Amino acid sequence: MPQTLLRPDDPSPVTVRRAEGRAPLLIACDHASNRVPTALGNLGLAQSEIERHIGWDIGAATVAAALAERLDAPTILAGYSRLVIDCNRDPDDSTSIPEMSDGTPIPGNRGLSASERAARKRAIFDPYHAEIEGWLKRQAARNVVPALLSVHSFTPVMGGKARPWHVGILWDSDPRIPVPLIEALRRERDLIVGDNEPYSARIPQGYTVRHHAASEGLPHAAIELRQDLVAEDSAAARWAERLAAALAPILARRDIYYVRD
Ligand SMILES: [Zn+2]
Repeated sequence: MPQTLLRPDDPSPVTVRRAEGRAPLLIACDHASNRVPTALGNLGLAQSEIERHIGWDIGAATVAAALAERLDAPTILAGYSRLVIDCNRDPDDSTSIPEMSDGTPIPGNRGLSASERAARKRAIFDPYHAEIEGWLKRQAARNVVPALLSVHSFTPVMGGKARPWHVGILWDSDPRIPVPLIEALRRERDLIVGDNEPYSARIPQGYTVRHHAASEGLPHAAIELRQDLVAEDSAAARWAERLAAALAPILARRDIYYVRD
């Protein structure tokens, strides 16, 4: 019998908002939630730890959902904390189910058996990525080449160092969305815009964009917002508006929608 991790009263591992969105665009939010399945307690952590940035991307779900409304695109949100299993890491990566995060040991992740790890992947990681893949496949079946945006947020201070950027665009070798997006955001004089900051997409991380878009030649970008700027819902909504204004002319260009080698 395979282990079942989620109980009937646990939330779904994946939520789709604005499923009827008509844009050839999917917004993915890997770190939308800080929920932990009931069966795992709180992974042995105080609720205050789960609520800080190690548990989730504060504000990201609100930005993603508001961006989806503005751009008329569906958004797919992961339902559980990255501390249970990180939906933006390769499941074979040692950081997929972290034993330590930003100085906090995660007792519930220590010494897991292969079947416990597999149960987390099966219950949480797989359905989230199947939803993304399903949407992309439905576009391909209609001969539509869609774009993928992943929305994240980053903690303003990491390892004692303040991060000055308001927003960062992470990208590797496909400039179609990132380059004009960075240019558009930099035209707004009050913004400090990171180009592969606070970290680079050129080191192998960012499973979602890599697996679903980069490896398939689809236009894509990962957007990182500083958490103190989007923690409040009203501020997150304003940020979504700003991002949508910068993105709309780029996404309206028909010449970005092709499968790149
Ligand atoms: Zn994230």
